[in-house]
Amino acid sequence: MKQFKVAAVPGDGIGPEVIDAGVEVLQAVAATEPGFALDFEHFPWGGDYYRAHGEMMPEDGVDTLRAFDAILFGSAGDPKIPDHVTLWGLRLKICQTLDQYANVRPARLLPGITGPLANVGSEELDWVIVRENSEGEYAGAGGRVHVGLPEEVGLDVAIFTRPGVERIQRFAFELARSRPRKKLTLVTKSNAQRHGMVFWDSIFERIRGDYPDVETDKMLVDAMTTRMVLDPKSLDTIVATNLHADVLSDLAAALTGSLGIAPTGNLRPERDMPSMFEPIHGSAFDITGKGVANPIGTFWSSAMLLDHLGERAAAGRLMAAIERVTAEGNVLPRDLGGKATTREVTDAVLSSLSRGN
Ligand code: ATP
Ligand code: MG
Repeated sequence: MKQFKVAAVPGDGIGPEVIDAGVEVLQAVAATEPGFALDFEHFPWGGDYYRAHGEMMPEDGVDTLRAFDAILFGSAGDPKIPDHVTLWGLRLKICQTLDQYANVRPARLLPGITGPLANVGSEELDWVIVRENSEGEYAGAGGRVHVGLPEEVGLDVAIFTRPGVERIQRFAFELARSRPRKKLTLVTKSNAQRHGMVFWDSIFERIRGDYPDVETDKMLVDAMTTRMVLDPKSLDTIVATNLHADVLSDLAAALTGSLGIAPTGNLRPERDMPSMFEPIHGSAFDITGKGVANPIGTFWSSAMLLDHLGERAAAGRLMAAIERVTAEGNVLPRDLGGKATTREVTDAVLSSLSRGN
């Protein structure tokens, strides 16, 4: 039997609440699968760790994570600690050190969920956004000159490298190819940004010849927001830069009902280092400790984790269990218009899992 080691990093705010639920559900899936077992280890890193130790995680924290098959992450963010400290000190540090360059964000209307778009059902809105996760606008390059003077300048420099752009685009082509519609949309802003964005377009033009079975099109990011709202069914797999895909995936999450549902994987496709899975929502301190956080984003991320480990059947069973709960519609969390607590939604998914066996 395969034994997978999974690191759980709950983080801050509602992170621990949804990760507890996620670990419980993953254990329940593994318990009924004869082929593999999951061995969890918890790492209490984040805001409280920072207050005690002056850093979000230990110096050798990422090295510790290297020994795991996958990471399940909650949320990093604390109202009393600056965002750049919480983000760069934990989540981004893990993503960057483990070179998890492909951020994959499925966006689909789950059965029974009504999004804000009238007359759009699950068949019409089924996307995967592929976000470049290692360079670009968030490379951290730039600076400030003439600080405090009238001529002060602030610079954020986006860095796009040929290997970096090629690997994310090829990843997106492979993903598009694996989906029924085999369709990939490239999003850039090459009319206004004449260097890096034109570079993205030209690499896309060149490598798409290697994927003749994948239908392609190109959109400017501003026009893309309109198309996502007005013509969602014309889209399938989408590839964009770090910044553009960040913005588009929040829009996508809203169009699929709630931030509380949306999952993501920070993938290391080569599998020589672990990938990390997390709900896309933040630490949501406004509802922390109330037991009402929607755990579905974590459950869906957990299904992605199983899929990445190669446990396709188990991933499919977990997704089916989640979808039975949303389709029945009688146990929904508050952000989806219901009244159920985190505990009740978790129990509903556990019971749905056992019915599905
Ligand atoms: P961070 O700074 O960590 O990104 P945030 O509070 O700015 O946190 P989110 O955590 O993404 O942003 O939350 C935005 C809003 O969505 C909040 O009102 C929050 O209560 C709600 N929300 C986010 N996640 C969930 C969830 N899992 N269940 C229910 N509501 C949620
Ligand atoms: Mg936020």
